[in-house]
Amino acid sequence: MMRQYDNQNPLILPVSHNLPSFRSRLRAAPVPDRSTSLESGFSLYRETVMRTDKIKLPAPAPGHDRALTVHHFGTGERKAYLHAGLHADEWPGLLVLQHLLQRLIELEAQGQVKESIVLVPYANPVGMNQRLFGYVPGRYDAVTGQNFNRGMSIDSTALLDQVRDRLGDDATTNDRIMRETLHEMAQNSGGEHEIQALHRALLSQSLDAHLMLDLHCDDEALPHVFYGDHQRETGRQLADCLGYPVRLEEDVRGIVAFDGTHTQPWVKVAEATGAPFAEPCFAATLELRGSTAVSDELARRDADGILAFLEQQGYITGVRAEPQPQEHDTVAINVDQVRVVKSEANGIVTYHRQLGEHLQAGDHFADIVLLDQDKPERIAITAPTSGMLFTRTVDYLVYPGSTLGMIASDKRQIEPGRQLSF
Ligand SMILES: [Zn+2]
Repeated sequence: MMRQYDNQNPLILPVSHNLPSFRSRLRAAPVPDRSTSLESGFSLYRETVMRTDKIKLPAPAPGHDRALTVHHFGTGERKAYLHAGLHADEWPGLLVLQHLLQRLIELEAQGQVKESIVLVPYANPVGMNQRLFGYVPGRYDAVTGQNFNRGMSIDSTALLDQVRDRLGDDATTNDRIMRETLHEMAQNSGGEHEIQALHRALLSQSLDAHLMLDLHCDDEALPHVFYGDHQRETGRQLADCLGYPVRLEEDVRGIVAFDGTHTQPWVKVAEATGAPFAEPCFAATLELRGSTAVSDELARRDADGILAFLEQQGYITGVRAEPQPQEHDTVAINVDQVRVVKSEANGIVTYHRQLGEHLQAGDHFADIVLLDQDKPERIAITAPTSGMLFTRTVDYLVYPGSTLGMIASDKRQIEPGRQLSF
């Protein structure tokens, strides 16, 4: 790991201008005990405000360097971890975290960060470098074909082997054993491929967290959030803070993404051992509307919602960030109640119903305009089930098997523990 202090960072310097003096800053937040040697007054000041690490990733080819940027705030025992852009073609979260970064710099300068907060502003420099004739594919690793947001889950059998005999009746001690073991397993996870090194670097920062938020977006969508169905209360609190109408609750014992990688170990170990835990990790995936919903206005709103949640969870204090207003009816369902509507034909899709509308089974909500007929023809697409239409595609040239949209229904549509897309 290489540590870098960049005193030219424009996001850092304005903070010092806002401060009455360096000395009063030190009074507001005592100098934490960190291992870094402090060589100058400026380093000391920076050390009390925010620490930025650069974690080197393997070079993809001779002459190339890649690194993750990791910002650390606070020194508390509990850790909140946030990152964006694990799917490197999803950019709204990148802007949200820049707004959050500025707010956290200011909050820490005022002594309002009460626990530890880790912010990774771009989680996937590997995918961001996939530029193909002006287009960033970004969702799948170009070497292995693997989805960047799959395939990093912890081997629960190996985890159980390591912790089973060490867990006892004390929940706090059990938490510590779990977090130490998970952190160690993340650091020692194998694999030489670049995507495996990326997952190893991310999980080494996140897997021992108490709270983890992974920022994504859909094609065109109402904002929604995924979390474990064993953590309904916290998940709905998060969605309320963000003002997100659609809450998707999943069984994390099956196939998991980055979020479930953080919660699955706690669920599986608790089920296998009966051991008590004080604060298992809460993890969620935020789907920030659609891929083109990138604006300062939306990002500020989402950052405020995240701050409200972090305050309610005790990571920051005195912010009084307001939960964001709801603009749609809320719906909380299990992920297996989502119906993914697939195309059966090649053509151009056009929609007759808007996001957030409630469809009845059989409602004609879209057409596929066929392009290869002798005269203009369309196929009517009807809702296969009743529910709220909450996503649509923006890849309008559809093909058999491509996703046209998702409907939040009140009936089970797929087996529990499955993911909606791959
Ligand atoms: Zn994504």
